[in-house]
Amino acid sequence: MQEQSLERFSWREHPDAVELGFSHYLNLIERRLQGEDISLVQGLRQFYQTELGVSLRETQARGLMHRDSSVFIDYVNQVTGERFTPNVEYWETLGLDAFLSWTKRFNSAQNIAAIDLEEEQGDITGSRRIGREGPAVRRTTVVRQIYRDNALSRFLKYLYDSHCQVCGFSFPLPRGGIYVECHHIRPLGNPHQGPDIENNMLVLCPNHHAMMDYGVIAVHPENRAVLSIDPSLAQQGQPLQLQKHVLKVEFLEYHYTHHFGR
Ligand SMILES: [Zn+2]
Repeated sequence: MQEQSLERFSWREHPDAVELGFSHYLNLIERRLQGEDISLVQGLRQFYQTELGVSLRETQARGLMHRDSSVFIDYVNQVTGERFTPNVEYWETLGLDAFLSWTKRFNSAQNIAAIDLEEEQGDITGSRRIGREGPAVRRTTVVRQIYRDNALSRFLKYLYDSHCQVCGFSFPLPRGGIYVECHHIRPLGNPHQGPDIENNMLVLCPNHHAMMDYGVIAVHPENRAVLSIDPSLAQQGQPLQLQKHVLKVEFLEYHYTHHFGR
């Protein structure tokens, strides 16, 4: 019975296999950097077997952690927008401190990612319900779509360290992570058909997100100043407090024309 389920069950089908495996992998690297004589391949295989009940071949384990192109590299890239080097020799050169400081940054980006998934839980469930009636491929596409969107908003939240671009505000959550939202300047969907790309997005606190949606505030398409129908707004006429990515003029013009003050 046990063997049958192992045979049937690939790591690719386990929803948390990459996240949990990578977290354990970081742990193994840390132990190696602290001088422990352990094998990363064996350690990873053992982890998958005992913790997730997934039987991993040696080549599969090596594939997960290959230095040039691997599942782990793609995973890190999706969470942080950064490239990770899963090569213990590389980290041995930089030293334990550098590794731990990288790990700390990764974990903070990971917390942001976890909040995103919780937020969209409703959407995922909904998509699965549709998927059960339609072809399986549709479900995969919908789930992938959500992952891609998450990756982009996660990247932007990471870029701004979860601070609002208008006012710089952010707040921590009791279970870890910092809360902030992503806004599409030209809205997605009908009738606006705005694109899901970073040049069409702003990182905002919930207040400024709602004010943007209701057309109370806008960003000036030319000088990036905050415009408001409420003259008492503290940021009125001031440039965006945080600007670390490029906003496209045409999207700002669209919002200004179709939403601001309407
Ligand atoms: Zn704000």
